[in-house]
Amino acid sequence: MAQARRDYYEVLGVGRNATAEEMKRAYRRLAMQYHPDRNPDDPSAEVRFKEIGEAYAVLSDPERRQRYDTCGHADGGQPLGADFGFQSAFDLFDMFFGGGARRPQTGPQHGADLRMPLAIDFEEAIRGVTRRVEVTRPAQCPVCDGTGAAPGSHPRRCPQCEGSGQVRQVRQTFLGQMVNVQPCGRCRGRGEVVDTPCNGCHGRGLVEETRSVEVHIPAGVDSEMQVRVPGEGAAGERGGPPGDLYLALTVRPHSVLQRRGLTLIYECPVSIAQAALGDAITVPTVDGPRPITVRPGTQFGDRIRIPGLGAPDPRTGRRGDQVVIVRVVVPSHLTEAQRNGLRELFPPDGQPHPVRRGFLGNLKDAIGL
Ligand SMILES: [Zn+2]
Ligand SMILES: [Zn+2]
Repeated sequence: MAQARRDYYEVLGVGRNATAEEMKRAYRRLAMQYHPDRNPDDPSAEVRFKEIGEAYAVLSDPERRQRYDTCGHADGGQPLGADFGFQSAFDLFDMFFGGGARRPQTGPQHGADLRMPLAIDFEEAIRGVTRRVEVTRPAQCPVCDGTGAAPGSHPRRCPQCEGSGQVRQVRQTFLGQMVNVQPCGRCRGRGEVVDTPCNGCHGRGLVEETRSVEVHIPAGVDSEMQVRVPGEGAAGERGGPPGDLYLALTVRPHSVLQRRGLTLIYECPVSIAQAALGDAITVPTVDGPRPITVRPGTQFGDRIRIPGLGAPDPRTGRRGDQVVIVRVVVPSHLTEAQRNGLRELFPPDGQPHPVRRGFLGNLKDAIGL
């Protein structure tokens, strides 16, 4: 199930006007507190740790912060979720505290986050929808339960690194002694070696599986947004928790409605007579046909607002409006009688005809929408 993401400022426990320095301090304090290595028995610390890293990555970047302040998580520009996996959270931590704090590669490893495209219909995006998606991902091997060792055998401690998964090299440089820590080449950082690899997974402990996952897409989503499905990413290695699945949405266009943020737009063609005399017209909305009143003297580009029939905000559920933009259609084929009638009623006089104030303004608004 999709999960609402918490406000980044709330995650860091700072005010919306926090300075860069204040956020840095908050990040440093919280990242230390929730680092998974310090909370080995609390799986929620990992989630918290990632959340803190993601919040800081956005708010510490002035451009991303501004976009977040304006659009929130429903940020159409560059969704961060998928790029920001657990590894990114650890990388950020290492940048802050120096490579020495790098997480050992042994023990349970968090599974990778996965990203998948998902196309939905316009109405599904407005109303929300529950879908089943086929996810192909690394899963724990059922033959060896993820150990990588053939049934009956067991992995043993790597003799090269004595189980630490790391090899240390001490180098003398002009800055003094530098310790370079690298994953062990023999066990590839796992800390253990398998003498008889499992047939099911060739010793990897993971196999590819394709599974159908039910996901709920909240009402009001739009193209470029992402929906996170917690725990449906790749399986973790050696019993580590799975990563998350991110669905990158594409919303198929509607045949007559367009969307700009929470506003739905319908361009309504009317005849000269309807515009001049006024009329009651039924227009399409996402909630079905609705009557609107075209007032006498309506001009090309005039807008008629239908409150509450726009798209909902995916976070608050509050709906925007539908805006009907009037397009007066000038007939291109007239009968002789119609031509004569028009000539008699509105004789062409070789002059520009004044329009009421605001007409061009309306047109500009209509184009700018
Ligand atoms: Zn080793
Ligand atoms: Zn296996």
